[in-house]
Amino acid sequence: MEIHVLGAHNGETRDSKLVSLLVDGILALDAGSLTGSLTMEEQEKIIALILSHHHFDHIRDVATLGLNTYTSTKQIFSPPSVLEALTNHIFGHIYPDFTRLPSPQAPSLRLCPVEPFRPVSVAGYQVLPLPVNHNVPTVGYQVASASGSFFYTSDTGPGFSNLWEHISPHLLITEVTFPTSREEMAGITGHLTPRLLRGELLEIRKRQGRLPAVLVIHMSPAGDEEIRGELKGLGRELEASIIVGNEGMKVLLDAGNIRVL
Ligand SMILES: [Zn+2]
Ligand SMILES: [Zn+2]
Repeated sequence: MEIHVLGAHNGETRDSKLVSLLVDGILALDAGSLTGSLTMEEQEKIIALILSHHHFDHIRDVATLGLNTYTSTKQIFSPPSVLEALTNHIFGHIYPDFTRLPSPQAPSLRLCPVEPFRPVSVAGYQVLPLPVNHNVPTVGYQVASASGSFFYTSDTGPGFSNLWEHISPHLLITEVTFPTSREEMAGITGHLTPRLLRGELLEIRKRQGRLPAVLVIHMSPAGDEEIRGELKGLGRELEASIIVGNEGMKVLLDAGNIRVL
């Protein structure tokens, strides 16, 4: 499995893009920077898109993807709350309804609701939606294939280590939005700091006796440098493989082994 980090931040600047991951060129997770990061040909290869929650930095490019790739139907998997946000506010409201265009029989986008703890097959991958603790309803996803598995928490505060009752991925893709100096803001908004991530990793190690490799994304551009410094120290302290994401980074998951390309 090749995981391409298209956007690794929660804010957009010249040098940072909103969160999106692309697996093997065909399965997208969240849509913060899907269209601006890919050629038209690459966008047309996407078979399915999985959305974690309705915050704007995760759904922004759904509409532009629908417009660009109307010659084929792509499936959008997400909890009903996200699909409702799309149909109540975007499709047919501030943009054309690509769930009915170019024709209701063969629309550009098809909406597929998912439920936490109910596995679903998406574009050939086994996908398990699991609830996480954010300030709006949010699900993370375990994605598995013959090459291994990863769990993408999307935006979350502490508590997801409890999910290791249900999963044991090779790679954890999670967020650190704020440096520890801004932990109060992380608490209010349902996000992690390096210190809060440390607590989750210790709990996972306690439950499982080992840690998965960790890929961190969703940094605030203003806190990026401080977060990277703290995570370097955390990786050393826990003797853990903590990779901090960048726009364009590709991570290979092969027979359960992780390699940054
Ligand atoms: Zn969010
Ligand atoms: Zn976000």
